[in-house]
Amino acid sequence: MIKIGVLAMQGAVREHVRSLQAEDTEIVIIKKVEQLQEIDGLVFPGGESTTMRRLINQYGFFEPLQSFGRSGKPIFGTCAGLILMAREIAGQDSHLGLMNIKVQRNAFGRQRESFETTLEVQGVAEDVRAVFIRAPLIEEVGEQVEVLSTYNGEIVAARQGQYLTCSFHPELTDDFRLHQFFVTMVKEANEQRIK
Ligand code: GLN
Repeated sequence: MIKIGVLAMQGAVREHVRSLQAEDTEIVIIKKVEQLQEIDGLVFPGGESTTMRRLINQYGFFEPLQSFGRSGKPIFGTCAGLILMAREIAGQDSHLGLMNIKVQRNAFGRQRESFETTLEVQGVAEDVRAVFIRAPLIEEVGEQVEVLSTYNGEIVAARQGQYLTCSFHPELTDDFRLHQFFVTMVKEANEQRIK
């Protein structure tokens, strides 16, 4: 049995819980720092990254999240979650700085320009459903970062070792394949650890 947490500071928490359901997998809603010790992988939902960062500081999550990331346990960040993970954010200071990527916020227009599309995501499927809401794009990727998907030539999903990230919201669709890909990453990382 593995345990995957969903950081419940803000955003679409319940939708992630639904998409992560899998065999031998327990989903834990993370509201307290101590809970990080019991999980094997973690999801950062979308929402608003500035607000999420403020709550992360307020509840003492900043350092613990950085150490969780560096421990080798997988993290999956969607949309605002991607922004939290980036080492660089155009025009402002970064947050957790875990992934070697530079992001640009709100790169696909405003709320009313939200859209749904189908994307090819390497290693997952050719037709992953994706909802973009004031989404960021990945402007630059550094060493060890694998580009998993592009939309109109812009990078919208990437992986760096145990870190998986995307600009869009797979949890707002009935397509669970990207989440299930992450569940597999967590199971594999867990097997490596107990070997
Ligand atoms: N635009 C938001 C931000 O910058 C992210 C939007 C989202 O998560 N849907 O934090």
